[in-house]
Amino acid sequence: MTAAVLEVSGLTVHYGTRRRRRRALDGVSLSVAPGETVGVIGETGSGKSTLARAVLGLVPASGGSVVVDGEDVTGHNERQWRALRRRGVVQYVFQDPLRSLDPDLTVEESLVEPLLVRGDPREEAARRVREFLGRVRLGEELLARLPGELSGGQRQRVAVARALVTEPRLVILDEPVSALDSANRVQVLDILKELRDSGVALVFISHDLGSVAGTADRIAVLYRGELVETGTAADVVNRPGHPYTRLLVGSAPTLRGAPADRAERARLRAMLDA
Ligand code: ADP
Ligand code: MG
Repeated sequence: MTAAVLEVSGLTVHYGTRRRRRRALDGVSLSVAPGETVGVIGETGSGKSTLARAVLGLVPASGGSVVVDGEDVTGHNERQWRALRRRGVVQYVFQDPLRSLDPDLTVEESLVEPLLVRGDPREEAARRVREFLGRVRLGEELLARLPGELSGGQRQRVAVARALVTEPRLVILDEPVSALDSANRVQVLDILKELRDSGVALVFISHDLGSVAGTADRIAVLYRGELVETGTAADVVNRPGHPYTRLLVGSAPTLRGAPADRAERARLRAMLDA
């Protein structure tokens, strides 16, 4: 058996002060194999971004552990995280590309930087940047532009190219298509499907089951900070077990011929609230 590229075990995250603590994640366990695409779905506030941030070391865990590519990163300090990022093992894409891209760097500078940081020679870095720009279907005429001079869809594709240019083993994408119009969403989803076949492992986080269903190998369902169901994409869509998953599937009319009607959705909601 190949070792997992991400192993999350019993991960618990609290926000707030000691007196007013809120549990945003509660004992979440999730394993991602090399090259696998795992979708994480759940409604707003279910803890998806908290999971992404905890895996990336951006919020501290109050329990459990995170192992990235065999390295236990749970208690890593900022210096240890910088070293890990410099090696380019794990990268990320956020919903708002302006948070993944430095507004003062041109597209070329943004893409070249992670390569120079890890020690690639300049000409080699420039060649790779052009190759990855092509992979996200952008032209070289964009290289001299600043993020503010790109459309939202172009910007998000630059953010995807930046995340991939070091050929990381794992990329965490938190709502990568949620801010895009439908034409750009389709394009970025197509790019993600191509990537899936290139060997990188993806954790694709979305509130929209429809976006994830066609891209992920497996789907994990987060509900109120807990993982309530994990299965192959086909099983989760066709045979959802948990009432919350049934509600999600029933509310995504494009997925199935017969979406749950209002009465069925109300019944599932009542089961969840009981
Ligand atoms: P999602 O990404 O699924 O919408 P989040 O992980 O952002 O969910 O949030 C999970 C829960 O944690 C929510 O109740 C949210 O209000 C709370 N939360 C998120 N970030 C913070 C924060 N920085 N401080 C306090 N509470 C937070
Ligand atoms: Mg979120």
